[in-house]
Amino acid sequence: MAYYSEKGAVYHIYKNCSLGNNIESKNRKSGTRGKPLCKLCKKIKDKKERGK
Ligand SMILES: [Zn+2]
Repeated sequence: MAYYSEKGAVYHIYKNCSLGNNIESKNRKSGTRGKPLCKLCKKIKDKKERGK
């Protein structure tokens, strides 16, 4: 489920991440490649885990 851009410095885990959505499909790869998690995805994750 994790994906990243070949040109980006981070990986994403949510499809509704607006930064992840900007990745062109030709640059999109699955996995994390050891990159840090995207800040926006982290925010979404924190929100979901808090339940509200
Ligand atoms: Zn993201």
